[in-house]
Amino acid sequence: KPMEGRITDIGPREFTEFLPPVIKANKGKWAYHEILEPGVLVHVGESGDKVYTVRVGAARLMSVTHIREICEIADKHCDGYLRFTTRNNVEFMTDSEDKLAALKEDLASRKFDGGSNKFPVGGTGAGISNIVHTQGWIHCHTPATDASGPVKAVMDTVFDDFQNHRLPAPVRIALACCLNMCGAVHCSDIGIVGIHRKPPMIDHEWTDQLCEIPLAVASCPTAAVRPTKVELEGKKVNTIAIKNERCMYCGNCYTMCPALPISDGEGDGVVIMVGGKVSNRISQPKFSKVVVAYIPNETPRWPTLTEKIKKIVDLYADNAMKYERIGDWIERIGWEKFFELTGFEFSHHLIDDFRDHAYYTWRQTTQFKF
Ligand code: SF4
Ligand code: SF4
Repeated sequence: KPMEGRITDIGPREFTEFLPPVIKANKGKWAYHEILEPGVLVHVGESGDKVYTVRVGAARLMSVTHIREICEIADKHCDGYLRFTTRNNVEFMTDSEDKLAALKEDLASRKFDGGSNKFPVGGTGAGISNIVHTQGWIHCHTPATDASGPVKAVMDTVFDDFQNHRLPAPVRIALACCLNMCGAVHCSDIGIVGIHRKPPMIDHEWTDQLCEIPLAVASCPTAAVRPTKVELEGKKVNTIAIKNERCMYCGNCYTMCPALPISDGEGDGVVIMVGGKVSNRISQPKFSKVVVAYIPNETPRWPTLTEKIKKIVDLYADNAMKYERIGDWIERIGWEKFFELTGFEFSHHLIDDFRDHAYYTWRQTTQFKF
């Protein structure tokens, strides 16, 4: 509810200013919604008002030209309103079937030079929506993998499932480019996580000048960092020592101290996790679990990563029962069977079971049935 006396030139403007009139009029009074076809939804209000939504796949990083084109479409068909979803989709909303038809036709006519569709419609229901992802090599300091690169490669591989509903239930994919995990990999059907596999390098020349050494020491969750002195060009300088056998390569110390770079061409890569979800349909929400422990960063198209994800999606499509999410399916057939079907190499490091308190379920890492 708008606050009286709110100072509107500080911070973002009141969100209700941005609601399309039909959404504003029916707020809190929606009767039901359905998916008319992949990417197209209708929400029906108790008043009988309808809102048609067309969901379009987009990129997380966009050029100004592209944003202008999106705005032009919204001006033309949606009275200037549009919304961006958390999965980097764009949703165009209209309030009549005629406007919906014109909007769809317009979107389908806009192509890239190569002929592919600029505004692909899809991402709803029992399919694969756009990948929620983090910042990657250009925009963050601790990534172990890129974000936009692998996301583009994976989405290209599974693009058909963005536009059809062949899957038993929704598949949500997320990517986080380091363990800080600004993405949603812990609760996604398929999670891609960047991992470092080597301790940070120590740039003794700069530690004392760029870092608060006590802060770097305090930042390490495994107490691997301690203050020390080394001799540089005949002078003793204050710096840091790292006990490598204690390091779990989390990159926390680098966040605090730029003289401890952790990125490494050979050490870095990605992990695949599966089976997470936030839905409570069929079973409780679940954390995802690691099923592929390491894949190198194979720029520019990440072939091993995309091949493995495609395999998971196809096996899930062929074997799961209707409404089962990937995690539900795997729990029904058993994790052992999942590894057998995928052919992924199993190691006792892989599966952790978060369903029960430790120590009283047989399915703990070290007691897995292989
Ligand atoms: Fe940065 Fe890690 Fe977040 Fe990626 S996941 S944006 S590397 S903090
Ligand atoms: Fe500690 Fe993490 Fe730095 Fe390793 S990477 S030294 S575990 S803070």
